[in-house]
Amino acid sequence: MTQYIQDESAQARVEEYLNLPDEDLEKLSDSEFLEGQTELLNLERATYLAQASALKAEADTIAQESEPGDTQFDEESGEGGTATIDRERDLALAAQARAAVEEIDGAIRKINHKTYGVCEVCHNPIPRARLRALPYARLCVKCKEGGLSKR
Ligand SMILES: [Zn+2]
Repeated sequence: MTQYIQDESAQARVEEYLNLPDEDLEKLSDSEFLEGQTELLNLERATYLAQASALKAEADTIAQESEPGDTQFDEESGEGGTATIDRERDLALAAQARAAVEEIDGAIRKINHKTYGVCEVCHNPIPRARLRALPYARLCVKCKEGGLSKR
């Protein structure tokens, strides 16, 4: 299990960063803010990666435990069906975790290209508090909600 244990000092720094009051968050310099976001992104990336591989392993175990040849095309049998559903749920969740990793990679690339924190639709800066809550946000709240209702 040791491979899943995070660098503890990074974890502590991220916790401290997450606990900063909003007004202190606004007072950080750009580089301090981006440093905090980078650590946050790296930590979330590691968490999602661990989640994806744990779910994949669980799905593989389910596949191994169910009788070979018995479940594949046998949709009538209740037991095989449940295992298939569990396995598909695990695989779907693993895919979601991997998609989150890709979003995070995109955000890290933006930090490197100095285009991070700009709304992809209106090109206005995304508020720091929103970025801290959702570090791979690509849209400001207005554009995000504008897609659903034009109020
Ligand atoms: Zn926007």
